Amino acid sequence: MKLGKKKRGELLLEVNRILYGKYGDCHCSLDYNNPMQLLVAVILSAQCTDVRVNKITPGLFKKFPDAAALAEVEIENLEEAIKSAGLFRNKAKSIKKAAQSLLEKFDGVVPDTMEGLTSLAGVGRKTANVILGDAFGIPGLPVDTHVKRVLNRIGAVDTDNAEKIEAMVNEVVPPEYWTNLSHMIILHGREICNARKPDCENCILNHICAYYAKSHK
Ligand code: SF4
Repeated sequence: MKLGKKKRGELLLEVNRILYGKYGDCHCSLDYNNPMQLLVAVILSAQCTDVRVNKITPGLFKKFPDAAALAEVEIENLEEAIKSAGLFRNKAKSIKKAAQSLLEKFDGVVPDTMEGLTSLAGVGRKTANVILGDAFGIPGLPVDTHVKRVLNRIGAVDTDNAEKIEAMVNEVVPPEYWTNLSHMIILHGREICNARKPDCENCILNHICAYYAKSHK
């Protein structure tokens, strides 16, 4: 069922309120010391746990401390350094290309705008929103697989299109909540509302969830 703007806003603010009671202010679980390190960590985190990424990045940034070093690295050396992250060939290519476009367009400094970030090779809205929110404190709503799944199940959105979901949430939720809301939904999706077997009986959102209501008719 498609919710109107007002109902969607009420539902999402209630989700935000309830999840905040459990998770509070969340932090990015990737370790980084500057926006460029976060950019690289986000690229590495595709289909890989943040814990594993955090094991790789200290050594990686010791060897290749800035965009210039990453842009010039022999690709085999980069692949070797990130091997345990999986999909390492593609990830090495993405990191090198992003570093090269950072150097070409922004003198090696990560931009703090959606437009600037998405102009970098291989950086989409999800990655850009992570960097805006976590590295710069600028509101952004990263929509990953957990955010997509949870918001669809709850009934707040009715699409798998990440850009549409972002717009539908941002239209009704104040910007100061965006970054933390995304973090909280991701945690909820990992811990409770997981893809294969959501733990609906123990879910603190079940009284406002469309999926739960449907399966308990
Ligand atoms: S009630 Fe079930 S489907 Fe709904 S948010 Fe909770 S775990 Fe997910």
